[in-house]
Amino acid sequence: MTIRILPPEVSVLIAAGEVVERPASVVKELIENSLDGGASQVSIETRQGGLTAIRVSDNGKGIASSDLALAFHRYATSKVALAHDLDRITTLGFRGEALPSIAAVADVEVLSRPLDAVAASYLRLVDGKPVEQGTRGAPVGTTVTVLHLFAKQPARRKFMRSPAAENQQIASLISQYALAYPEVRFSLRIDGRQALLTGGSGQLADAVASVYGAEVAAAMLPMRWPVNGNGTTIKIGGLTGPPHISRASRGYVSLFVNRRWVQNRRLTFAVEEAYSGMLPVGRHPIAVVDLRLPYEEVDVNVHPTKAEVRFRQESEAFTAVQRAVRQALLEQAPVPSAGVAGAEPAAREETSPPPLWQRAFEGEGEPRTAAGIAAPPPRVTLPMLRVVGQIGNTYIVAEGPQGMYLIDQHAAHERILFEEISAARQRQALDAQGLLEPITVELSPRQQEIALAHDQVLSEHGFQLEAFGERTYLVRAVPAVLTGRDISHAFAEFLDTLGEEAAPDEQDRVAMTLACHGAVKAGQSMAPEEMRELVRRLEQSEVPHTCPHGRPTMIHMSTDLLEKEFRRR
Ligand code: ADP
Ligand code: MG
Repeated sequence: MTIRILPPEVSVLIAAGEVVERPASVVKELIENSLDGGASQVSIETRQGGLTAIRVSDNGKGIASSDLALAFHRYATSKVALAHDLDRITTLGFRGEALPSIAAVADVEVLSRPLDAVAASYLRLVDGKPVEQGTRGAPVGTTVTVLHLFAKQPARRKFMRSPAAENQQIASLISQYALAYPEVRFSLRIDGRQALLTGGSGQLADAVASVYGAEVAAAMLPMRWPVNGNGTTIKIGGLTGPPHISRASRGYVSLFVNRRWVQNRRLTFAVEEAYSGMLPVGRHPIAVVDLRLPYEEVDVNVHPTKAEVRFRQESEAFTAVQRAVRQALLEQAPVPSAGVAGAEPAAREETSPPPLWQRAFEGEGEPRTAAGIAAPPPRVTLPMLRVVGQIGNTYIVAEGPQGMYLIDQHAAHERILFEEISAARQRQALDAQGLLEPITVELSPRQQEIALAHDQVLSEHGFQLEAFGERTYLVRAVPAVLTGRDISHAFAEFLDTLGEEAAPDEQDRVAMTLACHGAVKAGQSMAPEEMRELVRRLEQSEVPHTCPHGRPTMIHMSTDLLEKEFRRR
């Protein structure tokens, strides 16, 4: 084939492929336009995961009727004019690609009334071409309706997950923008149901309360960096969670750079780093980081979806984020109580040299001794053990025919429950426990979508729920393993686990979450008979030496090793 320039109807489809990957991308582009248009109210409605319909209405400055058709041309934008404008982008949009891209893959109707107009103009497009134009009465602002997304792109449509999965994406997206713009009232309705409504008070804590609940909002710690404006151009505000409200998933760190929601692994890592030693292994913080810096210090023109940015001074941004979070934690976080699972062990794991008995054999390379310490291969059952006592309310000391065993009570119990849950599920006999007093839980918009999408899985595992107002549920029964545990927390994390992009080991991860929350915590004192019961069940376990996450449940000090350590031999 000879080389030729693609006709616009083909090139726009290629661009559309990059900008509009799924329904949530359409929602994102439309609300960014609303925010760029100065809206203080943005309402989003979706049908069937956005595949049937998406409508975004705002009360922003509107589009002049003479510009309406132009807005759907590729590279048509009111936000940049000259090449050097790109060095200093102050708006969320700037590529002039969103509206034409959306119109290339869906039917679109836009209705817009600018401040100085008496009526609204409307324009309807099919296959990217105007088919109807006129005037109508409407309040100031813009409403864009997107119908039958990807109806003519069967290949794209095939890649869509279920409407429930798309709803989850949309709910998390709007949650992020609600956190980024506390002064804007956001309303999200999914299939007619109010999924999120924020007050637009301008207070970040209020937005956090709308998204994550009042309890989280009340516990969050304000960040302020630099403390006394010491020359740096980077400023950090926002809120970060105290260590005791950690989460099992990484999805609770929100990063906003000059009010743009961005994904940036290094900055997310900076937040996590600041918690080092404060969170148990496998736990992640909640944080809303509001990073501001001169516009020319950051390049947002990196990717068509604008979700990634580049910093001129990335390491400065990294340091600032890490310090801002760390300082908030050190100055304001309440001292962790002894009952907080793993808070201290996590610190020790990262900083201390290997324990004595490990060092003792490392130099020698003698396989027999090594086998006494390393986790033996799976399916090696435990011998009968005699419980001697508990150390630090965290470890059980036991004696067996081949020496001494130091058992991590939480990890061991996790292993036991994990196997019991997996076995019960195979028999379809998971026990539920009714609660005398139902527990009230408040879900995030995303969690609510997950709960609705997985109601079957929830009831199979023993959760019995009753809707109780907006995003609030009464939990009337729970999986029996959770009896006596922190149920609202366990339930929320169960939902987060279900919401993770489906992986083949989903069943296992669900069982792990329950096991983790059902297990006795580190720092909890145990009666002798409880310890004996735990050790007896561990003896019967199939893989007694590691917890389901692969961490050891015990350290074995063989009689041999003890004799060597004490120089008896
Ligand atoms: P971009 O946002 O990159 O400029 P878009 O294709 O998203 O490109 O939008 C094209 C233009 O249409 C914008 O530059 C803006 O002038 C106008 N526009 C779109 N949506 C709105 C809205 N909700 N309110 C005001 N103006 C809008
Ligand atoms: Mg735009």
